[in-house]
Amino acid sequence: MIRVLVASKIHEKGIEILRSSGIEVSRVEEPPEDELIKAIKGVHGLIVRSKPIVTKRVINAADSLLVIGRAGVGVDNIDVEAAKTRGIEVLTSPEATTQSVAELTIGLILAVARKIAFCDRRIRAGEWPKKYAMGVELSGKVLGIIGAGRIGSAVARIAKFGFNMEIVYYSRSRHIEFEEEFGAKYLPLEELLRRADVVSIHVPLTEETMHLINEEKLRLMKKNAILINTSRGAIVDTNALVKALREGWIAGAGLDVFEQEPLPSDHPLLQLDNVVLTSHIGASTEEAQERAGVDIAKKIVEFFRAKGYIK
Ligand code: NAD
Repeated sequence: MIRVLVASKIHEKGIEILRSSGIEVSRVEEPPEDELIKAIKGVHGLIVRSKPIVTKRVINAADSLLVIGRAGVGVDNIDVEAAKTRGIEVLTSPEATTQSVAELTIGLILAVARKIAFCDRRIRAGEWPKKYAMGVELSGKVLGIIGAGRIGSAVARIAKFGFNMEIVYYSRSRHIEFEEEFGAKYLPLEELLRRADVVSIHVPLTEETMHLINEEKLRLMKKNAILINTSRGAIVDTNALVKALREGWIAGAGLDVFEQEPLPSDHPLLQLDNVVLTSHIGASTEEAQERAGVDIAKKIVEFFRAKGYIK
């Protein structure tokens, strides 16, 4: 019998799809490495979300593993090279969370531009922050998208057609469809950072994109610009960002992802009023989780069916 270990919380509909296809499902929730190493013995499939971390040690400890399914997008928690070396396939459900992350991105832009979280904090503290909560409109402003893939496109769609923003972008290569749909202009990264009123990051975390936004890049941004990161924390050098926010090189930031998660309770970002923080909730909607769970379960079933292991 085919056994699949579900090592993160996925939607029950996904579990049902696996079980009704004759797969035996065992469950643990985001185990530490040593626990995962024990649990992985004898299983043929593994399903994770952005946690747990599937290290080389885990992969090498697996004795029957054929496939790893990531419910969602971003495989930086999986040692894909180690999996490849062992002939283990890595599947993702990349479309499932796109709209949710895009909507959160827009929420963070608004929260920073209109000081929504700041007002909320001050009102709860007994103040009425009308005079010092002056914001900016988005209409007519330049949105610089770094990474014009699925999420970058969904953000551009809302920003362009919902807020009348002008879209510029930087990506690994030019995306003609993106340019045509949004009237977007391709710019080198440095030029984008100089021009954009809002910069939003949507590239995956790779060796190339690690600290892509560092001190030098932050210094290119406008003093009144806003930086949004809903991709991965390590794409931005956090120490440099703290300096930029503290010293006013940029006006504000909205962050869903961090180099260290959970964010330590004494982190300097927590002292800053011009940053809005969320706890890596980009994909945390009912709809995205259902789509991700169902989609990855279907892909796992298809994988074993194609190999003739299940009917
Ligand atoms: P995607 O693959 O559709 O798009 C990524 C884009 O980045 C592509 O256009 C690609 O060409 C570009 N790119 C890749 N490497 C680059 C580089 N070195 N320089 C410039 N451009 C580069 O991915 P997506 O579905 O839009 O997701 C983007 C990222 O969002 C994911 O990798 C993931 O890390 C993150 N994400 C976060 C959450 C969350 O909860 N906050 C949820 C889902 C995804």
